[in-house]
Amino acid sequence: MKFSNYPITDEVKRGVEGLGFKKPTDIQFKSIPAILNGEDVLGIAQTGTGKTAAFAIPLVHKVQTSSIKGRKDGVRCLIMVPTRELAQQIQGVFNKVAKYTTVKTYAITGGVDQDPQIDKLDKGVDILITTPGRMFDLISQGYLSLHRVNTLVLDEADRMLDLGFYKDIQDVLKRLPKKRQTLFFSATINPKIKKLAYSLVNNAIRIQISPNDPVSKNVNHFVSSIDMDDKRFFLENLIHKNEDKKIMVFVRTQVRAERVAAAMERVGIDSLIIHGGKEQKERNQALKKFKEGEVNLLIATDVSARGVDVPGVELVVNYDLPDVAENYVHRIGRTGRGNHKGDALSFASKGEMELLLAIEQFL
Ligand code: ADP
Ligand code: MG
Repeated sequence: MKFSNYPITDEVKRGVEGLGFKKPTDIQFKSIPAILNGEDVLGIAQTGTGKTAAFAIPLVHKVQTSSIKGRKDGVRCLIMVPTRELAQQIQGVFNKVAKYTTVKTYAITGGVDQDPQIDKLDKGVDILITTPGRMFDLISQGYLSLHRVNTLVLDEADRMLDLGFYKDIQDVLKRLPKKRQTLFFSATINPKIKKLAYSLVNNAIRIQISPNDPVSKNVNHFVSSIDMDDKRFFLENLIHKNEDKKIMVFVRTQVRAERVAAAMERVGIDSLIIHGGKEQKERNQALKKFKEGEVNLLIATDVSARGVDVPGVELVVNYDLPDVAENYVHRIGRTGRGNHKGDALSFASKGEMELLLAIEQFL
C-alpha cells in the first residue's frame, strides 16, 4: 500500500511526499490505521524503522481534521521523550508532515532560555514535544496546562517508564483527561515495563511486535578483544582506515568521552563530543557539525544512544561496552537506519567479558 492510498488528508500526503517516503515501513503499516482508529498502541519495532512517522502521520491528520477548533485553550497532543536532541529531531519530522496544514508543532526542552517557549505556547501549539524537566517547570509556573491533551505519546517508552522518569509520567497522567489515547513506541521493552505500560491504559492495548529480535537487520556486528590501554590505538587505526565515514563512538562516562577526544586530538584526529555535562548550545552545535559532515567523528555517552537519527552514520564503535545490555541495541541502532546498511564494532577488554556475555544473552 502506498501513502497516497491512505485515508489521510491531501495536505498530510504532500507532507509525507516531501519527506521522500513512498511506501510505509512495517511498523507504519500496522500502527497508522490503529492510531487513526483511536486505539491505544504499544508499537515495538527495530531501531531505524520509522517509528516517528508511524505516530506523526496519523496524529497530524487527526489534529487537522479535529472538530475542536482554536488552539488557544491548550495543547492536544503531548509527546514525551528522554532527551533534548530527540525532541528537536521529532519536531523536525512533525514540521515536515504538517508543512501544508495549519497544525502547529513545537518542542520545549531544557538547557535553553524559557521565554521564547512561553511566547510560543501563548500563541498556541497543537502538538507539543517535551522532555520532562522543562515541561514541569512551565507547568508549575502556570504557562502550560495539559487539561486538553487527548493523545499522549511516550517515545522510547521503556526509558520513559524506567525508574528515573516514572514518577514524572505518573504526574503527567494525573493532569490529563481520563478519556484519551495513549501510544508507546520503542525498539526494546522488557516484560516488567510492558506490564507497567498496560497498567497505564484503560482499554485493551494493541501490540505491534516485530519479530522478537530488537536488533536492526541492517547492521553487521563485530567484537574485538582489546586491552583497555590499547583501545585508543585501535580507535586511531580504525579511523584512519575509514577516513571518509561518519563514525559514532560510544563510551561509558562523560570523563571517558573527554579523554578519548583528547587522545584523538593528540594524534591529529578531530572529534565532536556530546554528553550530559555539556551546555545545550555545545550539544546542538556538535550534532549540527556531525550531521553536516564538518567533522565525521562523534564521541558520545548513552545520552545519545536513543532515537538520534543522523543519516549516513556508517560505523558505530562501542569503545566501552554499555553497562545496560539493552543500550547496545540503541547504540548500534544509530547506524543501519531506513534502507541503509551499517557496521557496529565493540572493543571488549578482559574486564568487560561479563558485559559482553550479558549483551549476547540479551540479543
Ligand atoms: P526509529 O524511531 O524507528 O528508530 P526513525 O523514525 O528515526 O526510526 O526513522 C529512521 C529513518 O528512516 C529516518 O531517517 C526516516 O527518514 C526514514 N524513514 C522513515 N519512514 C520511512 C519510509 N516510509 N520510507 C523511507 N524512509 C523512511
Ligand atoms: Mg525513534
